[in-house]
Amino acid sequence: MAKRDYYEILGVSKTATEEELKKAYRKLAIKYHPDKNPDDPTAEDKFKEAAEAYDVLSNKDKRAQYDRFGHDGMRGGFGGGQGGGMNMEDIFSQFGDIFGGGGSPFESFFGGGGGRRQRKGSNLRIKLKLTLEEIANGVEKKIKVNRLLNADGVTFKTCNTCGGTGQMKKVVNTMLGQMVSASTCSTCSGSGKTIDHRPPGVDSTGLEMKEEVIPIKIPAGVGDGMQLSMSGKGNMAPGGGIPGDLLIVIEEIEDEQLKRDGNNVVYDLYVSFVDAALGGSMEVPTIDGKVRIKIDPGTQSGKILRLRGKGIKDINGYGKGDQLIHVNVWTPKKLSKEETEMLEKLRASENFAPAPGKGEKGFFEKIKEFF
Ligand SMILES: [Zn+2]
Repeated sequence: MAKRDYYEILGVSKTATEEELKKAYRKLAIKYHPDKNPDDPTAEDKFKEAAEAYDVLSNKDKRAQYDRFGHDGMRGGFGGGQGGGMNMEDIFSQFGDIFGGGGSPFESFFGGGGGRRQRKGSNLRIKLKLTLEEIANGVEKKIKVNRLLNADGVTFKTCNTCGGTGQMKKVVNTMLGQMVSASTCSTCSGSGKTIDHRPPGVDSTGLEMKEEVIPIKIPAGVGDGMQLSMSGKGNMAPGGGIPGDLLIVIEEIEDEQLKRDGNNVVYDLYVSFVDAALGGSMEVPTIDGKVRIKIDPGTQSGKILRLRGKGIKDINGYGKGDQLIHVNVWTPKKLSKEETEMLEKLRASENFAPAPGKGEKGFFEKIKEFF
């Protein structure tokens, strides 16, 4: 069947604005929504046709492609679906919001529409605790999940009521001739299958809670509260419908020594005033283990050292953060008599009197270096 022109389908001109397209599509979608037209077998095709036209014309790139090459320009790339067309699932998930304007979902707009979609299993949500090291480099985990799966020994057969189509068609004789009305099969809820045999102890859903070990790959750079989704790894639907999704909510385990600041890692280093004055080599923890760093003679408290690339990998692939080492000069609280005497001698020394601003940058200048 030759495809109709997208502009013609929506009844708009080639120069139609976004708003005009939306309005035109909305009108057609309401007019041809299958649940509103049980007596018109061509309604679903028209509904899909309008959705496809809107999908292309509402997208700047696709529209430009279509304007130049027509339907040939659309070949192969349409909606990711098979056979080039859009299925009802695609349409509902992509354009559901066009009808509501926020708050009112597609279904309620059409008064219980979407009824011919297959029953979908419920989503599962789990929390996953990760260490800073796991977050920094990404990690593969095997997690135990209790999910509803088909019980052992349950067998299915084609639904007797609908013959496996998931829909009930009724032929009605009207003044205008025969009309076919279609609705979701009430016996199988649209899956087209019913339970043939179930062992004792299995309820009428044919499902059973089972523990499953699911391997998951966590990308580097995830954050606390972030939610990852694994399609089809949730609960199964009764009668072989579409399984729900597994949602994984990330929880960051706070590290005792290293604090996260975006993709950077911050470490507070304490040095004695002797080490600060004479310089020295210090061991500091990093995400990848301990490293030695050099403290220059005359290092001031508050100095920030940077270990480049020792932070967290960016989740979008924009490189890696740094580790920032915040140097704190530690002042002893308890002194022996001998130590006190030594310090008394140093107190008199000219070099031990503070001289802020001489050869050392002030606080504000240092902050500017980092931001
Ligand atoms: Zn059925």
